[in-house]
Amino acid sequence: MDFFASDPTLESYWRSIILFGRNSASYKFALAKSLIELSSENDSDLITLEQLAEPFSRHLCEHLRSVDTQGTRSSGKFLNVCREFNSDRLSKDELLAQTAKLGFVNVIDAFHVVNNSDVPARFFVDERRVNKGVRVTEALYELFSKDGNKSLIDEAESRWRLVETAWELNISRNLISVEHDDEAGRLITQTNNKRIDITSSRDALNGYQRGKCLYCFGAISLSAGTDDLADVDHFFPHMLKHTGEFHNLDGVWNLALACQSCNRGEDGKHARLPAVALLKRLHQRNEYLITSHHPLRETLIRQIGSDEQSRSRFLQDCYDRACGYLNPSTFWEPELRGEPFGG
Ligand SMILES: [Zn+2]
Repeated sequence: MDFFASDPTLESYWRSIILFGRNSASYKFALAKSLIELSSENDSDLITLEQLAEPFSRHLCEHLRSVDTQGTRSSGKFLNVCREFNSDRLSKDELLAQTAKLGFVNVIDAFHVVNNSDVPARFFVDERRVNKGVRVTEALYELFSKDGNKSLIDEAESRWRLVETAWELNISRNLISVEHDDEAGRLITQTNNKRIDITSSRDALNGYQRGKCLYCFGAISLSAGTDDLADVDHFFPHMLKHTGEFHNLDGVWNLALACQSCNRGEDGKHARLPAVALLKRLHQRNEYLITSHHPLRETLIRQIGSDEQSRSRFLQDCYDRACGYLNPSTFWEPELRGEPFGG
């Protein structure tokens, strides 16, 4: 379960900041996106607060337009500045000046903090006192010079969408359901009879799988239009719905990202029941989302149980029942196509 700690790469440090750091406001996501943008265009590795102000405020204003809740506290001087800009009561110049002054007060100090201490890698150094900015480190350049790491940008955006939705809906207090919509390939929630589109199911589920198929560890893509685009697979096959004996098979607990070969290839899973080792992996994935303060945590708990023991019982119970419907002499297990998670 401790798979981030056992995999100390730049990528895992970055991802732990984006996925695990606790958030009281969404500034961290805006800062992450701004740093990535500016580090690729800037000649110098010094990025001044003035330079940061443009992308930083742009991202926050954009998000405020779709979700007005961008923190655990509803007010906040800087967010109000952005709101004023959005409603044409403030000029762009004024917005940038106010952003440089108010926007970075806490986020620069807090950016690298995960579980109450700094991660060992630093993606920038605080030089506000001497140079009125931050200095981007080799680590950041190295991380984003790799092509495969472009998906980290989408991941930050997806995480942001989940966090703001969790705040907006007060997910931790109101019990709501989050389910996969087959047709749209999106996670959907329902509250007060309103259907709300949360985020692409793929982006949300990838946090644990990190670009690998849950079953064979083969590489999968999350970008629409690519040949190896991941399938969103129902671990307990969809067709079990017809039995009326399975609860909420579209729930996040039962969804995994799979490569196309595993899901529907010649030796693919189709409607077969995965081998018991794979059930264990699904359980580990669910536990990971729950222990990592993922916004879907409460949803999972609500769907399958409040402690690990009841959640494993739930899965075992589904498995027992599924064996009764799907011929258990044909358990499915794929050929491995990559290294295990964290390997
Ligand atoms: Zn696969």
